[in-house]
Formats: sequence, structure tokens, C-alpha cells
Amino acid sequence: MALTGLQIYKFLPKTNCKKCGSPTCLAFAMALAQKKASLDKCPDISAEGKSALESASQPPMATLKFGIKDREIEIGGETVMFRHEKTFFHPPALVILLSDSLPEEEFKSKVENIKKMEFERVGMLFKIDALALKNDSGSPDTFASCAKMACEMPLVLISENLEAVKKAKECLPNQRPVIIGASANNFEAWTKTAQDADCILAVKGKDLAEVAETSQKVQSLGFRNIMLLPEVGNIREALHAFTSSWRLCLKKNFRPLGYPLIGIAGGSADMAMASNFICKYAGMVIVETEKYDDLLALITLRLNIYTDPQKPLMMEPKLYEVGRPDENSPVIVTTNFSLTFYTVQPEIENSKIPAWLVITDSEGQSVLTAWAADKFNAEVIARALQEYGVAEKVGHKKLIIPGYVAVLKVMVEEESGWEVLVGPKEASALPKYLKESWKQLSG
Ligand code: SF4
Repeated sequence: MALTGLQIYKFLPKTNCKKCGSPTCLAFAMALAQKKASLDKCPDISAEGKSALESASQPPMATLKFGIKDREIEIGGETVMFRHEKTFFHPPALVILLSDSLPEEEFKSKVENIKKMEFERVGMLFKIDALALKNDSGSPDTFASCAKMACEMPLVLISENLEAVKKAKECLPNQRPVIIGASANNFEAWTKTAQDADCILAVKGKDLAEVAETSQKVQSLGFRNIMLLPEVGNIREALHAFTSSWRLCLKKNFRPLGYPLIGIAGGSADMAMASNFICKYAGMVIVETEKYDDLLALITLRLNIYTDPQKPLMMEPKLYEVGRPDENSPVIVTTNFSLTFYTVQPEIENSKIPAWLVITDSEGQSVLTAWAADKFNAEVIARALQEYGVAEKVGHKKLIIPGYVAVLKVMVEEESGWEVLVGPKEASALPKYLKESWKQLSG
């Protein structure tokens, strides 16, 4: 939580010596609160004051990076309990659990399948973020050999045996894995390994209190790349533990819980538990399912929650080809709101008439909103036609505009020199319009 100027002032020497460049200590405190000055400008602040201010100015929840070097995945770093208060920054990593006791060929084939999985949603492409490798075999050699086979994906190493984890990490020189196994009884050795081998250390416990206690002890060893893994038996317990953790972290600035949480789903409630973890409040969700449809549902849910409500999802403004349009194909214009694009594009495909789709820069707004805000007007449309060189693609100058903005017809004609045809109001009517009206009008 950010400190106010008055809170910062309490830690300053209050001599008003001006060495920092500010006329008074209070003015310097105000500048610090507004992030317009840095603490090192005051040479007289005590060590205790400096340390208190530095620790108070840290964000409440750490941002961690794990995975393959130079393309690490960021998790944590959240600042609000609810998305509408500001936004969430880092979607939880979606991780699939694999056992090292699988036969080698089956293990390899699963890794390859998971690596290849791709999920497209509103113009964005997603992949599975990581694999969680579980040391069910009990053998450090088998665990290490599986880690080596899966080393091209970011890994989470789960074992009770620290030697197995060390051995597996040796096979992963190019990544920072998350290691799961530290608890109240063994955290010193696990912390040392995480420190020496550059890993993220997941601290587990039978409940949130035990996790917080162990996390505090790990922190006191000077290690802060921590994740939290409270044991939960069902959705109710998970909801309670994870929400309490975020509340204590974000509202009370309770440092031992200032780290991202791991939720492990599984069994018959795999999907329900995973959905709950995505909604509240995991930084990493580990699932057993490898089914494409299950994973697509989880990715869609995650996307819905972790998009910034103040920034509409938008398409790149440009000329899109739907099917294989040629010089006789219709030219249709609309806005770059993703939902508009993904409503219009499939309806054109349904018509079986290839078309040129002109997507204007309307700041991600839908047709009527953009028109009302003057972001979808004659000038914008004429400019898009010119910039994308649409006239060079077709042998006609007929442009179909959405029926909702029929009022723009004359203005667009004057501005662009194109003949404007008023299309249907709803995208669902496009196939009929293209098959019947466009054929007549273009004929
Ligand atoms: Fe106050 Fe330090 Fe600035 Fe001097 S240098 S005025 S003590 S804040």
C-alpha cells in the first residue's frame, strides 16, 4: 500500500536542512509520496527509517517470474481484490499435471501434445503455460529423466524428496522452475536449494496460518521468491483460504502472505475447483485434465476475468480477407471492437461469398457506440479505404456500411467517392443480404 506524505514524514530527520533539494522535510515527504523524488537524496535519514520506508514502499504482493529464460511467465503483483477497482495484471498460469510414473513413450507423447495445444479466443492465441511434474515414482533418476524430456516447457517440480528436485533442476539449466515440497519441517534445506539453484519456492502447509508462519521464516532467511500452497479439501475451503490470503496481503499489508498462491485441482471436481481458483485468487492453477475442451473453457474464463475492463478487446485496424475475395467481391466496413469483428466475420463465411472486410480504428468500440462518440464517421471510413488501398483490390466502388449507421450514407459517399450500400443492422442478416441484395446490386 502506498504511504501518504505524512506517513513518510514521520521517518524523516525533520531538520529542514534542504540537502535533498526540497525546502523542508515535509515537502520532501510529499515529493516522495508522489514518486517525484528518491529516498537517497536525503543523506541524514537513519538506517531504521530507510529500512522502514523501503519495506513500506514495496508492493503488497510480489511479482514473480518463472520458466524459460528470456520468456519467463509473470505471476502475482496484484493490487486490488476486485477487477473493477482497477484491473488485475497477471492471469494465473495454467499448468497440467503429469506423473513421472507414466511409461516413457506415453509421457513423451503427452508432453508433445500439450506443447502443440493452441487456443484461439477473440484474435488471441494461448498455449498451456507449464507442466507440473510429480515424482510419483519416488525415483530421483526417473524424475530427472522426465524433467529432461519436458525441459522445453516451463516446469513445476513436485516431490517430497529434495534430492530428486536437485537432480531434476540440474537438467533444466535454461529455466527457473517452481519447486513444491517445502513445509514447516524442512524449509531451511529447501530454501537453500531454491537460493542456490535459482528456483521459485512453493511453501505448503496444512492451512493458511501454517503457510504464513513458514513463509515468514523463509523470508527471514533472506529469500523472497516464494509461492504459497495451503492445503484445501474442497471448494469452500479453497475459497475461504485464498480470499483470506489476498485480504490479509492487500488490505493489511501482511508480508508473509504477500506472494502468489498455487491452487491444485484434480479428481472428479477438477474443473469446478480449477474454475474457482481462476476466479479467486490463484497465481497458478494446476489441473489434471488434458482435454482440449476443458482447457479452452478454463482459458476463456481466465480471459474474461483478467482482461482490463477499461480497455475493450480490439482488432488491429486493417483490411481483412474473408475467404478468397477478388476484384468482384463485396467490401464491408465496420469497427475494430473484437466482438463486432467475430460476429461479422463468421456471418460472411456463412454466406459463402468471399469479401473484403474493412476494420476501422474506432478505439475498440462497437458500431453504435463508436458512431455516437464520433469514432466511426465518414472521415474515419474514407481514410481507412484510402490507407488500406481498397480501391486497388476491387473493380468496383461499392461499400456496404452497417444498417445501424445508415445516416452516414451521404457523408461517406461525399468524403470517399464510393457508392454506399446500407447493409443489415444485425450481422446475422448478412448471409441473406449478400446472397440476395449484393448479387442484385453488384450485377
Ligand atoms: Fe529533511 Fe533530509 Fe531533506 Fe534535510 S535532506 S530537508 S533532513 S529530508
